[in-house]
Amino acid sequence: MAEWLLAPALETLRFQFNEQFPDRNKASDGAIGDDAHRNQGSASDHNPWVVLDGQAWVTALDITHDPDNGVDMNRFTDEMLEATRNGGEYRLKYQIFRALIMDTRPGQRPFEWTPSFEHYGHAHFSVLDTRALLDDQPWDLPMLAGTTKPAEGGFRLRPGAYFGPLTGPVDSHGGATGWERDQVARIQRRLQELGYAPSHEGWADGRFEQETADAVAAWQRDKMPGTTRFGEVWPDDWAILFS
Ligand SMILES: [Zn+2]
Repeated sequence: MAEWLLAPALETLRFQFNEQFPDRNKASDGAIGDDAHRNQGSASDHNPWVVLDGQAWVTALDITHDPDNGVDMNRFTDEMLEATRNGGEYRLKYQIFRALIMDTRPGQRPFEWTPSFEHYGHAHFSVLDTRALLDDQPWDLPMLAGTTKPAEGGFRLRPGAYFGPLTGPVDSHGGATGWERDQVARIQRRLQELGYAPSHEGWADGRFEQETADAVAAWQRDKMPGTTRFGEVWPDDWAILFS
């Protein structure tokens, strides 16, 4: 399994930052590990070492410290600490900022900042390697007040990947894992709803095979005639299919 996704809990966190601070600097943002991280294996949550529901998940996100545009990580990490301490927020595993780490795992309580390494230009957030990582509810923190989460069921594959035949290349996601099957089934049910697929029950089985590709292509010929990738669902197809 070479593919990975960012934990939904962190997708939401990033979305909230983007919504609240549209002009924020993203220079030190990051999710998937670079080579240095990759060599650390499971020592870095930027590597997709967590597997849940047959899907590999990246469980860490870096957000750039940009106080000029409102993203003051001194303040935000304090808010995160407070929310975790009073029990309202349960998803955080640890956060790192200014060479200090605040770890929530057993043995690390009461929560205190202890020396760590680096992380001056950005704050690092890791979520727990449990089902907590799948919880995409908005983070209820004062600096993000009023923000929401990504639209229900948004396109969640990494850049360059798409929903397509199971037998396709590695970037083609056709229902090889539990998480993918849920997404493919959503596409199939939507095509049934719109009248482009056989309506019988059981057809939407989460497996992207020839009949599904044909149904997608039929819908595209009607609604997205300019497409060059008939039979595949990319972010632009997804957005129109579910609008
Ligand atoms: Zn990091």
